[in-house]
Amino acid sequence: MTQRRSRFAEEIRIIPIGWAIAAAVGFAAVQLLFIILRWTHQPDLPAEPWWMLLGLLGGVMLAATIALIGYIYADSKRRGMNAVLWLLLVILIPKPIGFIAYFLLRKPLIVPCPQCGAPVGADFHYCPKCGHAITPTCNHCGRSIERDYVCCPYCGKTMVSSAKLPDPSTG
Ligand SMILES: [Zn+2]
Ligand SMILES: [Zn+2]
Repeated sequence: MTQRRSRFAEEIRIIPIGWAIAAAVGFAAVQLLFIILRWTHQPDLPAEPWWMLLGLLGGVMLAATIALIGYIYADSKRRGMNAVLWLLLVILIPKPIGFIAYFLLRKPLIVPCPQCGAPVGADFHYCPKCGHAITPTCNHCGRSIERDYVCCPYCGKTMVSSAKLPDPSTG
């Protein structure tokens, strides 16, 4: 399949726009909070550069958390998992544990069937809706093979359907 390993940038793009905006608002809110605290509690706070750095770090962490939750929501949906349940789990479970659990337990990516467009699990050999062979299989022993194999590497039989036999007219 073409997208066995999607790039990080492509993964980022699945974050719904609402979540991306929420992440940006979260970042801005932390900056605002730090500015207000600086005005009201001036003498008690660390020196100005450290306080600003702290505010930036806090903002980035909050924005990253919101974006990650948004990513998990969209990602669980496209994998045919219960998105609302996972949304609640990653919000309610103490932060790193919920995120780690999600990435350990998530189902393989669902891709559309090239023939009918029905969602097909990454480990499926045939489309459950139209029977299209997602990964070609040997006619004799039924095991997965590559499309350009001439002989089955498991049972040794010659492939008939994906006839890649040498053309007798040439040579
Ligand atoms: Zn299909
Ligand atoms: Zn075979």
